This record gives sequence, structure tokens and C-alpha cells, in this order.
Amino acid sequence: MSEERERKPDTEVAHLGRNPRRHLGAVNTPVYRASTILFDSVAELEAAARGESPGVTYGLHGLPTVTDLQEAIAELEGGHAALAVPSGLAAITLALLAVTRAGDHVLVTDSVYGPTRRFCDHELARFGIEVSYYDPLAGEAIESDMRTNTRVVFVESPGSLSFEVQDVPAIAAAAHRQGALVLMDNTWGTPLGFPSFARGVDLSVHAATKYIGGHSDVLNGLIVCNEATYPLVWRLWTDMGVSASSDDCFLALRGLRTLAVRLQRHTRSALAIAQWLRGRAEVDEVIFPALPGSRGHALWKRDFTGACGLFGVILTPAEKARVDAMLDGMRLFKMGWSWGGFESLIIPAYPERIRTATRWSAGGPYLRLHVGLEHPDDLISDIDEGLGRLRG
Ligand SMILES: *Cc1c(COP(=O)(O)O)cnc(C)c1O
Repeated sequence: MSEERERKPDTEVAHLGRNPRRHLGAVNTPVYRASTILFDSVAELEAAARGESPGVTYGLHGLPTVTDLQEAIAELEGGHAALAVPSGLAAITLALLAVTRAGDHVLVTDSVYGPTRRFCDHELARFGIEVSYYDPLAGEAIESDMRTNTRVVFVESPGSLSFEVQDVPAIAAAAHRQGALVLMDNTWGTPLGFPSFARGVDLSVHAATKYIGGHSDVLNGLIVCNEATYPLVWRLWTDMGVSASSDDCFLALRGLRTLAVRLQRHTRSALAIAQWLRGRAEVDEVIFPALPGSRGHALWKRDFTGACGLFGVILTPAEKARVDAMLDGMRLFKMGWSWGGFESLIIPAYPERIRTATRWSAGGPYLRLHVGLEHPDDLISDIDEGLGRLRG
């Protein structure tokens, strides 16, 4: 282990992926807007094309704003190398396509992000890749879902809608025994909250759109690879021409600088609010793996190094009109299909509508909350008034 590796995450996010000496001493890598790169001689041009000189041949690959983000994330998560793409969904789909071929089977957690499922069912199927879904809580029992042609086991832990914490080390051990790769959507955990490679993951993807960007103003995806998968992902990334832009990588890098301190605050406020919600008569269950006593807490405690502000709440039975009245009147928790920004969000969610391998059974309506960086006392007042509207 190098000295670098022993630094605390707060220090790492401040210093990784920055080379001021290469940019007039500027603290942050500037936005490089470039398509054409010029060379002074045929010898230089041809050397660059052979990959011999360090520089860049064309703006689609290798601009410093992009490579600095890639290097920072790879190092932070303990991977070999990373590639940046224009969205989290693009990171997922590119990673899946890069490591599969016709005749393979992909095993996907039933708790997976909806658009990931859509891609698997529509596009992988079209390319002759079999897809099936497994119980997110299967653990080592996943062995019975594996087929001789299983190439990828896809995990998302916790599921970003229903928050099942998966036994990733047990799943990885079973997958590796059969020669399959483990591909993880690690958006909830971030590199700070879940050290995916140390837990057996081969490829980790992030919607940097969420906490890494952190300000609800950028779409960005990152694919972090181990040594074996990097050449495959690099080739498809190059062949498809899907690099993220320098502008977006600049914003993702800027977000990364405050990731540790933001996550600490998101987590602390979310725990306080989850605890408060749990004591309310209108609430049947709070599902927040970081909360002692919640479903998934034991595995979270064993495998995670942090959490965030996103969790679920099962209400006691209530009519839809009352739930709608609760949400429509919120002053601080706004409704929107995302999370990871500085602002609080709330949505009604219906996990039962998208499952195929397992059943989601909740006695009452289900809400997903994203606890932002506002003061938790104000957020609690907002929810308190909302629960008043829920009661009618
Ligand atoms: C939002 C999200 C994505 C997709 O990210 P985009 O940048 O919106 O494409 C992928 N996985 C999870 C878990 C997400 O929440």
C-alpha cells in the first residue's frame, strides 16, 4: 500500500485528479473544449496515432478534464481505471454490452433501477443475450439461478427504490466460481460508502449525476473497471464514441471535491429524520439500511463504509388522495425523479409494478425520500405538516 492509499477519503477527494502544474498552476483542471488537436510534424502526428506520445490525438479521447475525473474515481474506488460517459444509464448499458456477446446469460437483481431492466429486456434480448432476474436477497443461494452460460451477475445494493442490501461478497464468490463477472450499480454507495472492488466486484458503475455531481445540474456516468475488464470497456467506449464532455466532467470533478462532507451531512440528517419518522403513527416502516433496526442494517454495517440521504418509508394504509395531498403541499421536499443533489425530494414509488422474480408486499403506500442539505429541523416540520394532510 502506498502512502497515498492510507489517506482519509476526505483528503483523497480534495486532491485526486488534479495537476495544477500542467495548467498554469490553476487549482482546478480547466475545461478543455477541443475537437481538433494539431501536430507540428508528420513524425509527431504518427507517433501520437501509435499512442507513443503522452498527448491526445482527437477531442473524443484523452482531454485532461475527462481523464482527471476518470483517474480520480478509479483511484478512490480502488479500481484499475475508469471511463466517463454522458449519463449513469450510458455507464450501465456500455458496461453490459462491453462484456457480453450473443449466447451469454445475464442475471440481474429484481431490485434493479427501472431503465436498466428496460435495456436488458429490449436491447440485450435483441442481441441474443438471455436475461433473467433473481431475488436481491439470494446471497450465496444465487448459485441455483446461475446457468452454464452466465457471464454477468448484475447487483445494485441497496436497490435505489426498495433498498434491499445484497450480500455482494457471497454473490461475487458464487459468480466467480462459475467464471461470471460481477457488475455493480454503486450509485447509492458512491466510492466512499461501498468499496466495491474489495467486496469482489469486477466492474462498478456510477450515475455521477447523483451525489458525485451533487448539484442537480449535470448528467454524467462513470465505469470503474478492474484490470481484466478495462480493455473490453475501453474498446467499446472508443468504438461507440461516447465520451463524456469536458464541461460535464468539470462539474463532476467540482462536485467530487465536497463529496465526503456532503455525504456526512446527508447521512446525519437522513438518520435523524428516519428516526423521527419511525416514531410516527402514520408510518409503518422506515427502510434505511444505515438506521439500526432497519431491514438490511446488519449487512450494511458489515460491508459499507458510509451511507447517504436516500431511503424509503412505508406508510400505514391510506387513500391515494390523502397521500397526494400530503405530497402536493410540501414546502421543502419537492417532487422529481432524481436524487443526490443538495435539495430534498420526495416521490410516491411503486416497486411492485416492475418486479418479475420476487414480490414487493407493503401494507400501505410507499414513499422515497431524498434528504438534502437543508437544516433537518425545517425538513421535519415540512414532513410533520405533510403527515397532518395525510390524516386529513
Ligand atoms: C439515476 C440512476 C441511474 C441513471 O443515471 P442517469 O445519469 O440519470 O442516466 C442509474 N442507476 C441508479 C441507481 C440511479 O439512481
